[in-house]
Amino acid sequence: MALKALDIYKLLPKKNCKECGDPTCLTFAMKLASGKADVDLCPYLDDQAKSVLGATTRPPIRLIKLGVGERSFAVGEESVLYRHDKTFYHPPGLLFKVSDTQSAEEITAATIRVRDETLTRVGTDLRFNGIAIENTSGSPAVYAHAVATVEENADLPLVLIAKNTEALNAALIQVGSYQPLIHAATKENFREMCAIAKKHNCPLAVKAHGLDDITSLVKECLAEGVKKLVLDLCPQSLGNYITLSTAIRQLAISRAVPDLGYPVYIDATHPSLQDAAIALGIVKYASVIISPPLSPASSKAALTLRQNIYTDPQKPIQMNPGLYRVGTPGKDAPVLMTVNFSLTFFTLQGYLESSRVPCFLLIVDTEGLSVLTAVAAGKLNETLVRDSIRKFNVENEVSHKTLIIPGYSAPLSGMIEEATGWKVLVGPRDAAEIGEFLHEEWKK
Ligand code: SF4
Repeated sequence: MALKALDIYKLLPKKNCKECGDPTCLTFAMKLASGKADVDLCPYLDDQAKSVLGATTRPPIRLIKLGVGERSFAVGEESVLYRHDKTFYHPPGLLFKVSDTQSAEEITAATIRVRDETLTRVGTDLRFNGIAIENTSGSPAVYAHAVATVEENADLPLVLIAKNTEALNAALIQVGSYQPLIHAATKENFREMCAIAKKHNCPLAVKAHGLDDITSLVKECLAEGVKKLVLDLCPQSLGNYITLSTAIRQLAISRAVPDLGYPVYIDATHPSLQDAAIALGIVKYASVIISPPLSPASSKAALTLRQNIYTDPQKPIQMNPGLYRVGTPGKDAPVLMTVNFSLTFFTLQGYLESSRVPCFLLIVDTEGLSVLTAVAAGKLNETLVRDSIRKFNVENEVSHKTLIIPGYSAPLSGMIEEATGWKVLVGPRDAAEIGEFLHEEWKK
């Protein structure tokens, strides 16, 4: 049975030391109660309290972090089977795979692509996440050299794929402190792999086929003291992947088999199925997806699909509030105000660009609501407009004090004039008419 925050609080050490990342034990208790924190974050819990709290409060799928620094990413901590039940929280990492038998130029080219390529879509920069390096040669020296080539070119999260523990050790001498994912512990080698993962404090992929085998291997790795695990299900086909990943998600979030509560890994490098495997991984519960360097078309498909699936359906996509420029506006250019609902911004921006009237676009923070909804909810009001004009120094950018507001916010025009001291022009309701409006009304 789930514990309430106050019941959890009674079991905490009550030091209020902040080491768990929360300001007080009570706030940590509240996070535990909602499944948003892990008991292991408090270093002062005794084993008995840990086992009582761990069973009921731990997120059903553990949060696992890959890499360190700016490009590191976390996966797991999901709590639903279907996105519309709540949301999916941590998008899967998409990593390009290289082999240590490839030339240094090929390895460098793949690394630089992941380091530099960005696709900007609805105001968000979409990127690949890291590099997986496979020890195909079997040689520790060749593997260490390939890993060093990646590391010299970028600080990216890594997956080290090797059966040869000497090769892994050689690579980890160079990159062990960057917390790469080590792939993989199997029934045959898990003791050595666990020792390596523990030595470098790295997450470890556990590789077995079938739910029984992977569950018992997870238990073995936990008994060895490795807690940061990722599950490689070794699917025999894409259909088999869906069956296994869905079963694992169900068993994990219902807490029926807590040992399956870890992020899932999929290798999507099959030459003729890679796009389908990536897409299935994104929509069906993969958290770490390995593929060869993708073509531009496949890259775009993967990045946009991931963005779509991991966009919270309950939250509108928002732009950052601010003063944006369309073209190169001068001091006499019009200033248009609108809301930070991204669809409104991009629609209006497109029509403004085609109007060929350089202008300023003042985006105010309505928490992503559209104009009509924001006016009805009171989120768009004269105070917000006045504060935004001040905050973004609009008066320093233009030599006039005329503001064009959206047609649907016409009821606010008088109040905005009073609060700001700016003359207000009410623009059209339909963004498609903004070009005609500017040519006819602004240039009068
Ligand atoms: S680390 Fe433990 S004792 Fe310290 S504030 Fe967090 S819950 Fe309380």
